[in-house]
Amino acid sequence: MGRTPHAGERFRAALGCARRGIPVLPLHHPVISGPPTRIGCSCEEPACLQVGAHPIPQHGVEDATTDPLRIAWWWRRFPEANLGLATGYGFDALVVHGSEGDSARWLLVAEALRASGPLVRTGGDGWHFYFAPTGLASHRPLGLARIEWLGVGAWVAAPPSRHASGAVAAWVRDLDVPLPAAPAAIRARLDLPGPSFPWAGPEGSGPEGSGEPQGGAPVDPEGSRGPGPPLLAGEREALASVSAEGTASVNPVRIRD
Ligand SMILES: [Zn+2]
Repeated sequence: MGRTPHAGERFRAALGCARRGIPVLPLHHPVISGPPTRIGCSCEEPACLQVGAHPIPQHGVEDATTDPLRIAWWWRRFPEANLGLATGYGFDALVVHGSEGDSARWLLVAEALRASGPLVRTGGDGWHFYFAPTGLASHRPLGLARIEWLGVGAWVAAPPSRHASGAVAAWVRDLDVPLPAAPAAIRARLDLPGPSFPWAGPEGSGPEGSGEPQGGAPVDPEGSRGPGPPLLAGEREALASVSAEGTASVNPVRIRD
């Protein structure tokens, strides 16, 4: 459990990530009420399966941007929003859910730790290892339980996002640490033909409930989330060029509400 960060911290964190060329977007946030204590989602959907972890913008992660004006507008309108970072452009993420697992899983985690890149402890008993973008699609590496690779079209909830547990995601090593390439041992596992996400959109369902706010697919049973519809022509290139050049304004204004 961490202290509850002031809303302005997430806005400032969003600007900081955008300045590094990482497209950002606002995510819904957990709403805790009671007594008796009830944990809901700011989307106000009673059956929300991704409490505090899914995008607010109409087009999901497609709307992610590095445009500071857009970001300021979002956090003015949604001051409590959690902070989402689009994966696949500035970085890819290896998502490790929970602490259980077999030796194959832990060998991979050891490799990720050895790479010494940016690392997030999530608010939901998970870890996000950041790596240089690989171009790989988001998928679950074959044979590795509760591990995901998030690339183009997915997102992670970044510090200081709040989890439904009440805990706040925190950097173990922040983005000042150089992004390592994915180690060969990890690439070897990633290249195994595991299932790609059956991305079905934000209303997808999964058996495990809200899970952790840390990236992946809307239908991910562990609460991770991923792409909506494919990017339109030109948008992928725009995002990629921003990632490469660190310049501002990835997308045109997309929010219509
Ligand atoms: Zn929700």
